[in-house]
Amino acid sequence: MACFFGHAWKGLKCEKCGKTRDIEKLIKSNDQKALSDVAFYDRDANIRGLAIRNLSDQKGLIRVAMSGIEQNVLLCTEATKKITDQEALTYLAQHHKYSETRIAAAKNLTDKNLAEKVFAEIALNDVIHYTGKEAVNELTNQKLLTDIANNARHSEVREAARKKLG
Ligand SMILES: [Zn+2]
Repeated sequence: MACFFGHAWKGLKCEKCGKTRDIEKLIKSNDQKALSDVAFYDRDANIRGLAIRNLSDQKGLIRVAMSGIEQNVLLCTEATKKITDQEALTYLAQHHKYSETRIAAAKNLTDKNLAEKVFAEIALNDVIHYTGKEAVNELTNQKLLTDIANNARHSEVREAARKKLG
């Protein structure tokens, strides 16, 4: 995949000659290879988001989700929601730098025990209380919820766990 002059595309604009391609055309033709490149490389986060929403290629989605440095939390999470590859999801759920993305990955895990562990860890330790509460919402394990009700870092999260325990 290259521009008219044979340069490799990075995003919608060829950085060598300045030629551009149209995101709407790529979406219409469902060019997954091109959408994958745009989702990863384009400088405009809105364009990357548009490409991600139209991307189904698992490799492309995984590459975007893994690239925490350039991608913001919304885009990492959006890509992760569409990932079904269990190996990638396991990694993302355990190691991604954004908790929101870790929650999205855990939700798609078929290993529900691992998912509960991830939710519990986030609920207990996350620095942002609403992310902790979001993790509590996903939890069903009573033992883990009891632990969170007693030991979570934020009082809002402890309260949410207590409510869920009834
Ligand atoms: Zn070019």
